[in-house]
Amino acid sequence: MSEVAIINPAIGKHGRHKWGEAKRFPYKTEVSCERCQIVKVTRHEPSVRPWLEFYRDGERVNCERTPVCESAEVPFA
Ligand SMILES: [Zn+2]
Repeated sequence: MSEVAIINPAIGKHGRHKWGEAKRFPYKTEVSCERCQIVKVTRHEPSVRPWLEFYRDGERVNCERTPVCESAEVPFA
């Protein structure tokens, strides 16, 4: 499944992360934002659908969808 589905379309072009180069592991892919350093981990283990986890400063971000990039301008803040 595409991860696009869980990105809030209301955010639009603002608040988007600038993802750097992806680091691939056997059951996950990590990519960090060049602006706010948040880390997006795509977990893909056998027999389950892939899911996303986000980490900031090494701590899990508890969120349902992609957090807004804190270094980008947020028009509705
Ligand atoms: Zn960011």
